[in-house]
Amino acid sequence: MTLRRNYLHWPGIARALLFLGSVGMFLAGGYLAADYLLDSQREKQLNELGGLALRSSEAVIDYGVSALGEFSDHENHSCMSGPMQKMRLFVYRSNFIKDLRVVRPDASVVCSAFSETLEFDRGWVGRDEMLESEAGNFRLFQVNQFMGTALGVMVDLDHEHSVIGILGVDASLLDVLPDELRGHGSVSLSLTDGKQISSAGGAVDPREDLLRFVVASDKYPIETLVSVHADAFHAWNREPIAPIMLLAGLLGAVFGALLSRNLFRPRSLLDRFDFALSQGRIRPYFQPIFDLGTGKVVGAEILARWIRTDGSVLPPGRFIELAEQNGRIPEMTWSLLSTALDEMKPLLRAEPDFRLSINIAPSHFVSAGFRGKLRDLVKKADVPPHQITLEITERENFEDPDLATICVANLRGHGFNVAIDDVGIGHSGLSQIQRLRADTMKIDKFFVDSVTLDSTASSMIAMLVRLAKEMDMDVVAEGIEEKAQVDALLECGITKGQGYIVSPPIAAAPFLELFAARAASGKLRVAATRAA
Ligand code: C2E
Ligand code: CA
Ligand code: CA
Repeated sequence: MTLRRNYLHWPGIARALLFLGSVGMFLAGGYLAADYLLDSQREKQLNELGGLALRSSEAVIDYGVSALGEFSDHENHSCMSGPMQKMRLFVYRSNFIKDLRVVRPDASVVCSAFSETLEFDRGWVGRDEMLESEAGNFRLFQVNQFMGTALGVMVDLDHEHSVIGILGVDASLLDVLPDELRGHGSVSLSLTDGKQISSAGGAVDPREDLLRFVVASDKYPIETLVSVHADAFHAWNREPIAPIMLLAGLLGAVFGALLSRNLFRPRSLLDRFDFALSQGRIRPYFQPIFDLGTGKVVGAEILARWIRTDGSVLPPGRFIELAEQNGRIPEMTWSLLSTALDEMKPLLRAEPDFRLSINIAPSHFVSAGFRGKLRDLVKKADVPPHQITLEITERENFEDPDLATICVANLRGHGFNVAIDDVGIGHSGLSQIQRLRADTMKIDKFFVDSVTLDSTASSMIAMLVRLAKEMDMDVVAEGIEEKAQVDALLECGITKGQGYIVSPPIAAAPFLELFAARAASGKLRVAATRAA
């Protein structure tokens, strides 16, 4: 929750980060996926190319084997000059057969179509070293000659004679690598015993990081090996990366935009209020309560203000009801009181008669635990309870007036003052005032506004003052804006007031300045100076 709140503190930055993070993640994911897909695609392609080379090689063997079979049909396997000539003609006409040799079953040579070629041999293998084809009708082996290697195919003609064809598997048959990989890889054909027959492509450096793809024949004991340098392999065929990345970036942007829009959807007023409260931005402002005769500031009413991040100030009319409806009043009240006690502590110490008033919602006032918490808080702040006044409004009825009376009595018993706020405009009438037995009566601005205009207003005020006197209550008049009102209120016997004539509610620092300035000037009369 705290994390989310902190993010919400800089919604612009958090949104941008979320958006960029999403694009970045999609790009990274897209890149990895594309790389993986392309790698498997390339592997598949190289395996197919290896297969292609293998099939060409198989075709050469097919050709060789069938040609040798044909040769045997003609029973040309004697080394007499006539058949030898035919053998030479046979080799001459054939594309792949480089030489023909009549051998004994153990593979020792009886004669060769071109006897000179025997000198090219770098050794000759015996029958045992040859690899038998699956069908068992011929054998394959490596022919190692000075010019290179070739593929030997031995076919048994009868018990005494066998014939060997030396097949040239031309490198061009294996030249299947695409242009991008040529020079970075090779394709070779080997027997399954590892002996290489032919290869195409540049020499690969085995010390480098090589990728190898082996395709084995299921017809013959041969296999092709495609070796490619890893770097060249990864760089090959990268064109599809760009569109994939573009798509991933677009998806990331859409996802990021949706996510940030959902996560940072404009919050409800209650959400914002909770956040402001948790951040200490529901702050106490102070409005002076002053002596109407001398102008001396004798106290202050704490009034809640929501200080927004841009510095603008919201009055309580914009959020108190919301806080009340959603059970936030207790938390807000305690926060305001403890901050106010903190900020006013030096003044409360220096001026033992100075009183700090705080508005308490009726339901909070009678709630269990309210009085205990209040006492603890005030005690912790080391402020005497008689410097604290709790204002309970007369606008709302107490559900249980008897309980309210008990609470008032209890708090007064602990030294706190209780004031009845907004007297005159409430629904409960004078009976509630009489029953509650509070210390102070705060006469609503409504009467103060009309006191200079309307004689009924002044008679009402006079009546309330009389009632207050009878009940030994103090009277404070609210909302005084003009000097004439001060005079009229004094006429009615009221000695304390509150209003813009001295100052609207202000923050602690200007309030303390105002108090000090008024104390220093020794003002004896209220002057119509309005604090900022
Ligand atoms: P209230 O307790 O009756 O507070 C007096 C209101 O009258 C304040 O309005 C004050 O700014 C305004 N006022 C004082 N002098 C003058 C004046 O000369 N002219 C005019 N036009 N107005 C004046 P504010 O601060 O807007 O508070 C409105 C109400 O919100 C308060 O009425 C009180 O009922 C409630 N409220 C404010 N803070 C709290 C709080 O911390 N807790 C609770 N439960 N209610 C609060
Ligand atoms: Ca009040
Ligand atoms: Ca009031």
